[in-house]
Amino acid sequence: MGEGEYIQCVCGRIIRDPSEYKVLYIKKENRELDILCPNDTCYLRELGFIQFTLEDDKPKITKATFYSPFVTWNVARLGKERATELLKQHLQALIKRYIDWRKIVEETKKQIEREKAAAAATASAPGGGSEAGSSE
Ligand SMILES: [Zn+2]
Repeated sequence: MGEGEYIQCVCGRIIRDPSEYKVLYIKKENRELDILCPNDTCYLRELGFIQFTLEDDKPKITKATFYSPFVTWNVARLGKERATELLKQHLQALIKRYIDWRKIVEETKKQIEREKAAAAATASAPGGGSEAGSSE
């Protein structure tokens, strides 16, 4: 296959295989994974995201998508049908094969503990109760 057969980032980087993307888990409070361009100097950087929830300690994908500049670029190059098909395959491969879900689940559980601790601290803070009198 020539370069014209593959997915390409707007920065010019050809992405032959879904394993080439970088996946970052920074937005833990949103349970959101960022999909990044493999090119470190890419000006677009974020190509898409995967959102999930934990159900019985198992990840359940709620949304997985690429951002429109990346999609539009590839639709213009490959045609809508081919680009849509390839990008769908990339997302599925990322989710099924290339994301270390065991690690993500562990980190999410720690995050949930932190959120619980923060909520408990807020609830017990002096004067911070929701029953503070409203005088009308
Ligand atoms: Zn790029």
